Amino acid sequence: MPRAKRSKQYRKLMGQFSMGWGFREPYQVLVDADFIAEANKCKMDLVRRLEDTLHGQVKPMITQCSMRHLYGRKSEPGVQAAIEQAKTHFERRRCGHHPDEYPEPLSALECVHSVVDPKDNAVNKHRYVCAINDDAVRADLRRVAGTPLIYIRRSVMIMEPMATVSAKIRSKDEKSKFRAELKTPGSKRKREDEEDSDEGDEEEDENAPTKTATTDQPEKKKNKKPYGHKEPNPLAVKKKKSNSTSDKQGSKTPKAREAGAVAKETWDTEAPKRKRIRKHKSGVSTSVENAAEASTAEAHEEN
Ligand SMILES: [Zn+2]
Repeated sequence: MPRAKRSKQYRKLMGQFSMGWGFREPYQVLVDADFIAEANKCKMDLVRRLEDTLHGQVKPMITQCSMRHLYGRKSEPGVQAAIEQAKTHFERRRCGHHPDEYPEPLSALECVHSVVDPKDNAVNKHRYVCAINDDAVRADLRRVAGTPLIYIRRSVMIMEPMATVSAKIRSKDEKSKFRAELKTPGSKRKREDEEDSDEGDEEEDENAPTKTATTDQPEKKKNKKPYGHKEPNPLAVKKKKSNSTSDKQGSKTPKAREAGAVAKETWDTEAPKRKRIRKHKSGVSTSVENAAEASTAEAHEEN
């Protein structure tokens, strides 16, 4: 394929990953030992070629195990240069496979998979672009939806077409978006918001919300039930992205996301208070959620 055509195709592809999975610059590119060794062997300007391919800024990363693989291959052509490059320009991705515990580094397959899909539930949690020359590893990562895959063949950097799992989710997503537009915006919007917060809870901590719900929040539990029937996934994930882009932009790390959730929580607890006062004074009946609080406020004032 001619270079220009390929480039155009890659830009479109990254656009789809951005829309569907929230990829943002600088793209975090996880590189394996084979990839960086091959790039140096054929004297490729690796970072620049990655930026050309992805049409954006990149942040190259390499795991501790991959570094150990490189050290083990020092004598091979290009590998010494690869080590120098990784040491000076790449961020070290802590995979946690420390030599004390793992006298031998994990295979690229095991290590990369554990970093890309930490819960082993086919989710590319940190939105890594994977630059991997090991065919078996790429085959494995094709099952993780929303994972752009890059490799080098005959001195050419190539991005794989979207894997089938990803493409399926994408088209499903587009269909549901279309259906959403046909519905009344008001009711749909509300449902989306509820789904978002639902999903957020699950991400933040998996057990707590259901426990509290069963003990002291029967109403909430009732609300939750219908969502349990649904597939947990692309719909909610996608909506989240398109709805709160500003939130997403800053949230590269789980910590940042957590902070966002906390901020949202404080907002949620504060908002009803203000509402309650206003509504009480004007005598407007409150929503179900605020009713309890309003009545306690009333009782308080009467005393
Ligand atoms: Zn590792």
